[in-house]
Formats: sequence, structure tokens, C-alpha cells
Amino acid sequence: MDAFSYANVYNRGIETMSDIKKSIEPLRGFRELTPGEYEKKKFIIESISELFEKYGYREVETPTVEPLSLIELKIGEEIRHRMFRFKDLGDREVVLRPEGTISIARLVANKMRNEPLPIRVSYVENMFRYDEPQKGRYREFTHIGFEHFGSKSIVSDIEVINIAIEALKNIGVKEFRIKLGNEAILRKILNRANIEQKEQDLLLGMLDRGDNEEFFERLSKKGEKIIVNVFRELMKTKESSIGESEQILRKILADFPDALEEYERVKAIENFLEWKAKGKYYFDFGFARGLEYYTGIIFELYIPELNIAVGGGGRYDSLCKLFGRDLPAVGFALGVDRLMLSSQVKITKQRSKKVGVIILEEDEETIKYAFQVIDQLKEANISLEIDTMEGALSSKIERALRKNEEAIIIIGKKEQTEKQVSVKRLKDGIQKSFSYEELKEKTLDFIGQ
Ligand code: AMP
Repeated sequence: MDAFSYANVYNRGIETMSDIKKSIEPLRGFRELTPGEYEKKKFIIESISELFEKYGYREVETPTVEPLSLIELKIGEEIRHRMFRFKDLGDREVVLRPEGTISIARLVANKMRNEPLPIRVSYVENMFRYDEPQKGRYREFTHIGFEHFGSKSIVSDIEVINIAIEALKNIGVKEFRIKLGNEAILRKILNRANIEQKEQDLLLGMLDRGDNEEFFERLSKKGEKIIVNVFRELMKTKESSIGESEQILRKILADFPDALEEYERVKAIENFLEWKAKGKYYFDFGFARGLEYYTGIIFELYIPELNIAVGGGGRYDSLCKLFGRDLPAVGFALGVDRLMLSSQVKITKQRSKKVGVIILEEDEETIKYAFQVIDQLKEANISLEIDTMEGALSSKIERALRKNEEAIIIIGKKEQTEKQVSVKRLKDGIQKSFSYEELKEKTLDFIGQ
């Protein structure tokens, strides 16, 4: 920091060196990424966005700041206490969005009424949660997600699971595990015990956090003994295949025909996964997700490098009703920042050739000519970087080598008046001249494709 910036900090009434350091560091849980670090993030976002598009999902955007009242409708106990909330200058209670699905449901319900169903949308948005920072857990992070509205069909559940798996494969992640559960089964059992919605949300929030003791203690106070036993049995299906849990489930769900119906849907998913991800999936019917809007299948993706989920999603058939439209829906989001930690992710995109542009004898004509040359070349998948630093040609060539440029284009007075350019290949130092007209066609060939 220079003397001027120090003075500024002091003028704001900050006294000690440690105050100064704190005031210029990013906040805890917030990160800065250099171009080198961001490259992996960009690759993940671009690859997965392209995949979503191939399956017919179109990207949308929703506000970063939302009314607290909107998000509180369905966010769930777990996240409710970890939101960045504040009063804006208009005295409104607002939050930095902690997740995207609620806002997207509002958008689809209100603004996409005339679109034929199903409606497929995707998004890349930053989320904010006051989580305890640790590896893979930040206070600002990026979700890349997609949502499928209008269909109750099992085909839509399977499509979402399929795309989630494909998204991982698309960025090179082959080792992963999918954990599946079903919130409808849990809620249908709780309904039977006449446990009201709010209480159900609290109980399922406990299961999501893994607070099973607390869950059973509270359920024992609220529910009949039989329900408590049903849940104890459900917990036994942890890490099971359907085959292994079938007997348990059929026995315990015999008294809950509506829950059994849900179970038949799960079987169709297992049939699909046996083909798509054999040995990489398991069921846990005692598993719940913290967000309150889930009403059916739920699932999470894990990779061996991390012991926290890299993505999660599920079916939420009643969320849109809050916005006046009865649309069933299913969706999923991946955490881009967690995927960045995976050593399996390999950047495979072909980079464009890097070429430096050096203007010698700078004057208004040579400068204009250099930009004309760049205009010509930018269509040929070449990234062109003008050397704007002062110095001799030799120091400019040295800089081009340090930047790993493949070639440099030299533009001086002679080139400008004769409408030519000189291209110097840096790997062997060979230099050739091309006319302005033949530039586009010949430069790539000369540099080497
Ligand atoms: P959720 O909305 O909680 O299901 O989160 C979906 C995905 O977002 C998770 O599987 C993570 O990959 C990612 N995620 C959630 N919370 C955080 C966080 N605090 N830091 C980084 N990524 C997160």
C-alpha cells in the first residue's frame, strides 16, 4: 500500500496496523481469484452451461438482493440463521440470496406463463451464506443449476439426475457417488402422525444436519411410538441398494400406501442408475435436505476428494403455488467452488493461439494500422495482445517469450506505409512478411495450427 492509501485509511479513523490490514483484506469466507485460479472456475462454468443448453435449458438471471419475506417462505431453519440480512436505505429487510430456486420459481410462475411446458431453465449465480469457513465452505460461492418445471413424470426426475451426472463427466470427474432419498416418504409418515408442516420442517432440518438424537427426542414428544419406530427402521437403509432396503421398506411402508407409491418411483430411478452409474449410487431413506421446499426424490453428489457434497437437488412440487401457479418441478445445483478443489477436473478446452503485437515507431498512423491488423486477425481464433510497455524491441521480444506467446506481429512505419506486417515465430525466430490482405489466411498456418 502506498503512502497515499495509508493516509486515506488513517483519515477514516483507523488507528493500528492490524486495523489497516483488516480493512484491506477480503472479509472472512470471501475470496479473490487471480486469472490463473479463475481459469478452472471458468472452464467448469462454461463446460456445464454448454451441456445444459444441449438438453434444452435456457439461462436466466434473478436478483442478488431479495426481500427477506420471499426467502423466508421456504428457506429452512438451517439456512435461515445463516443469511446475510440487513435493512436497505429504504428501510426494507433484505437478504443476499442464499440459494436460487425460490427466486427462479417466482420468475417462472410470473413471467413465463405463456411458454409451453415443460419449462427448462438454468442459472449461474453467486450465493451468500454465513457458513463457518473451511475447505470448500465459503460465505460467497457460485451455484450452477438447472430447473425443470411443469412435469410430474418420473422421466423429468431421471432427466435431472442424468444431467447432474453428465455435468460431472463433462469436466472430467469420473469418480463420484450419488446419495438418494425421498422427502415425500418422510413427510407422508409425519402427516400420518398429524405433525404440522412447520414442525415437519424443523424435524427434517435435524435429519439434514445429522442431529439424529435430537430428531428422535423431539419426534418422541410429538409423535406416536409407531412413527418413531418407523423412522428407526428407515435409518437402517443407510448406504443401501434398493434390493437391500426393499424388504425393510415394504414392511414398514405397508401401513402407508401413499408413501409406498413414492417408493415405486424410486425403483424406476434405481433401474436407470443401474445402467448409468452402476456401483456409484446408494439410497438412504432417512436422509433429508435442509431446504423446506422438497416434496419428493432428493439427491446429493459426492466426490472422493471432499467429504462434503458438491451438488444437491430434488423435486419440489408446491413451491410455485406460493406464486399463484401450480407447477410441479425438479432441479439441481452444483457448487462450482467445491468442484474447483477436485483434482479430477482437467481443463480440456483448446486455448486460442497467443500472439503479441509490437508497434515500433509509434505515431497516429502506425497505432491506427495496428488496430486494423488486429481487427483482421481476431476472427482467426488468435488472441492478440498489444505490448503497451515502453522499451526497445529486444525487451519487448523477451516479454513476449515470458508470456508464452507463439509469435509476435511487428508493425513499424515501413509496414504501415507498405500495408504489410512482419510475423516472427518465437519457437525458431523465423520471420515472414504478409500483405494486409493475406494476413487472415496465412498467419495461423505460419504459426502452426
Ligand atoms: P445446497 O443449496 O445447500 O444444496 O447446496 C448445493 C451445493 O452448493 C452444495 O452441494 C455445495 O456444492 C454448494 N455449497 C453450499 N454451501 C456452500 C458453501 N458455504 N461454500 C461453498 N459451496 C457451497
